[in-house]
Amino acid sequence: MSKYTFKNTLTPFYLETSSVRGRMVCLHTLPMDIIKRHNYPNVINHVLAELITLGITLCNTFKFEGIFTLQVQGAKAAPISFLVVDVDSKGNVRACANYRDDKIAALTGQNPTLPELLGDGYLAFTIDQGEHTDRYQGIVELSGVTLRECLQHYFKQSEQLETTFYLTLTEDFEACAIMLQKLPFDAEKDVDSYDEWFTAVALLSTIKPQEALSLTPPELLHRLFWQESLRIDENKQLQFKCRCSKDKIEDVLTTLSHEEKIAVAKEGMIYVSCDYCGEKYEFDVDDVKKNND
Ligand SMILES: [Zn+2]
Repeated sequence: MSKYTFKNTLTPFYLETSSVRGRMVCLHTLPMDIIKRHNYPNVINHVLAELITLGITLCNTFKFEGIFTLQVQGAKAAPISFLVVDVDSKGNVRACANYRDDKIAALTGQNPTLPELLGDGYLAFTIDQGEHTDRYQGIVELSGVTLRECLQHYFKQSEQLETTFYLTLTEDFEACAIMLQKLPFDAEKDVDSYDEWFTAVALLSTIKPQEALSLTPPELLHRLFWQESLRIDENKQLQFKCRCSKDKIEDVLTTLSHEEKIAVAKEGMIYVSCDYCGEKYEFDVDDVKKNND
């Protein structure tokens, strides 16, 4: 067995001759660890697992310390209201979805397209680096039949970066994704770099799901890009972990007026469950810290 740990990891790499940067994400148990906290229909689980996997490929491309969030917002009355994944700089990942039961049940066909699920929605990236820092936010209309296409469109339009993704996902939500991004060069080299970029994209399209799910990142990347000077950086471990806590929820409850607290309480108790992880919290109305009203 390989000593190299690759389960639930993000591996950054560079194709130095072509000036292409890449990220390979191998998720064995992580999507299922998140999905089993929820009780979503399978069509939601599938698109959420895609969002989780692709979102992780991107969190490292925006250099960040803090929380990276990728959200897909559906159009008014679309089957899916929103899907969201967030990743912090320690590799903690959580995700959730909100959808309309009746519209999901009314979907026909095995694999609905993104426009069928979300209508004229949009995609938003946020990087939150904590208090007293600016939040970075990028928003773009959904444009494409798959999430991959929408993300490619985002980078081309908003960041002027050629970007492509490979993604494979099993029925049990094991996943592998690879992102390639053409780095901006100096003008002299730029003419040739497009040939090298298209070669890298063509090589990426030759991956078979079986290879992607069974080989380690170094094995797969060396097999694909053997003609390149390939640099593989240290990988990052990922795990499911939610940031909710009783204190954080209590902070939110303190912003309610006494009347509002009474309105949401049942027999003097307020019950809150975290949308991201399903953890349940309960508070005695009289014990919730008072706000200034
Ligand atoms: Zn939680």
